[in-house]
Amino acid sequence: MKAAQIQAPDEARIVEAPEPTPGPGEVLIEVAAAGICGTDLHIYHGEYEATYPIIPGHEFSGTVAAVGADVERYRPGDRVTADPNIPCNRCPACQRGEPNQCESLAAIGVTRDGAFAQYVVAPEGSVFPIGDMSFAAAALVEPLACVMWGIKRVQIQPGDSALIFGAGPMGCLLLQAVRCAGAAHVVVTDVAPWRLARAAELGATTTVLAGDGQAKQIKALAPAGYDVVVDATGIPEVLEQTFDFARPRGKIWVFGVCPRDARATFVPYDVFRKDLSIIGSFAVSRTFHESIALIQGGAVRVEPLISHRLPLDRFVEALELAERDPKRMKVQIDVAAS
Ligand SMILES: [Zn+2]
Ligand SMILES: [Zn+2]
Repeated sequence: MKAAQIQAPDEARIVEAPEPTPGPGEVLIEVAAAGICGTDLHIYHGEYEATYPIIPGHEFSGTVAAVGADVERYRPGDRVTADPNIPCNRCPACQRGEPNQCESLAAIGVTRDGAFAQYVVAPEGSVFPIGDMSFAAAALVEPLACVMWGIKRVQIQPGDSALIFGAGPMGCLLLQAVRCAGAAHVVVTDVAPWRLARAAELGATTTVLAGDGQAKQIKALAPAGYDVVVDATGIPEVLEQTFDFARPRGKIWVFGVCPRDARATFVPYDVFRKDLSIIGSFAVSRTFHESIALIQGGAVRVEPLISHRLPLDRFVEALELAERDPKRMKVQIDVAAS
């Protein structure tokens, strides 16, 4: 089969790889669509816990092609997506019911071969049916499931005000998710006016362009501060700013992935005096089900987030686009077209 492989950091190419065979309890999926995310770029540059060579790709959808022994719930032809995270189900974290904190977490597209290929294998328990959702939309279930895990952690209350830094694909999922969770006012800020236009279409109540006067404008919209402030940029300097906008007893949600060795400063006295909460949320923790439901029911719109669709042959170009194109949102590989 045709696959995009990262052989070593900064070395990606299209290869002819053996078609995987599903073992007992595993499902072989013919990939239709797969999204590129920041994690793939980190793997490409050797900045993530990946094993090389690796076929990346952890946000995907497709059709069941074959099933291994003992698979009960799927048959060839079923339209599916899969949760890429595979917890061990044995360690203390798994036993506590915290699978995303598993001590030996495996992940499709990170520690085992992923979906930038014609076929990928997933354990039956990680596979989810998508009904008649488009494959392009279904490849965005995983990013939404990351957001939905944070929604559970942060516990948005009906009527909350939220401020989101970043209006890329994740910022646009976050804004829709906090609205679904009951936020009444959602302010989104970004450096790119066209991204803000997209955020407004998708339900942001107000958008603020980054630059001179940004802080003043954001404060004027909620003089007493915001209930929830989210960083979706992964830029330490931006995260530092979030503290200025949270109300007393407000929550700072650390969603964007800062570089592993980055440091950010905050004023402990303010956290103490204002009863602030700083809440992280990592990956997905059994949040695929609601993510699929939200997309199927039309409460979260994902297709407007896709800016580019390229065939598998143009994978390296797609990585460059996802990293640098000023007009990029979600870049997807249309594997079915390859
Ligand atoms: Zn991802
Ligand atoms: Zn575990």
